[in-house]
Amino acid sequence: MIIASNLKTNYTRKGACAFIDTVQMFMQNSHTSQEVRIYIPATALDTFDKNVQLRVGAQNFYPVQNGSFTGEIGFEQLEEFHITSILIGHSERRHILKESQVLIAQKFDFAKVKEVEIVYCIGEPREVREQGIEAVMAYLWEQFEGIDIHYTNLIVAYEPVWAIGTGLTASQHDIEEVIARLHVKLNAPLLYGGSVKVENIKDILSIPYCEGVLVGTASWDSNAFCTMIQVADTLEK
Ligand code: PEP
Repeated sequence: MIIASNLKTNYTRKGACAFIDTVQMFMQNSHTSQEVRIYIPATALDTFDKNVQLRVGAQNFYPVQNGSFTGEIGFEQLEEFHITSILIGHSERRHILKESQVLIAQKFDFAKVKEVEIVYCIGEPREVREQGIEAVMAYLWEQFEGIDIHYTNLIVAYEPVWAIGTGLTASQHDIEEVIARLHVKLNAPLLYGGSVKVENIKDILSIPYCEGVLVGTASWDSNAFCTMIQVADTLEK
């Protein structure tokens, strides 16, 4: 399974390095079979001495190799650190940073040409969820506009917007229903994200076709994140 941590706007360079070291050490000692991803802030990018099951990824980039885009990170700056996994379409970028579907699709196309792993995030806001499953699915499919769903290095993370960073998790039934419907059309591994924590990760990973989790807040404690990897190891999947 894929157990991913999104550090968001937390951790300094030194702190992120210590976080990665702790997780790395845990993975070695526990002989975990999980695929682990850690998405760090751009200022903490570095060349880490990692094992093959751990990839350090980027939370964002601007779809250019380099150029005049003040304040942005181009792909050249990611390549310097051999970044091979990227988050695209995270709800905080869609809703807080107002990223349009057009820009998101441009990022996707750029990353696809580079053949890196893309964790493509989709999710509905609360008002859409309140309209029922058909409205949720219509909203989610719109978030695939301009996106090549057949890209081989694609992972899709279903993250209801109202469950991100709020402590609210979608019900088991709601996650199951959405994941099952996504599975009908998508071959990509499907992750769930939205207030995943040590206490609920086992139930979430037990959902059919759910192949992992993307964890924000609860993963910022490296011990808790390691415990989540350990829980995943207890499941036969
Ligand atoms: C996320 O940032 O992708 C996320 C799921 O955050 P949280 O776990 O805090 O809800």
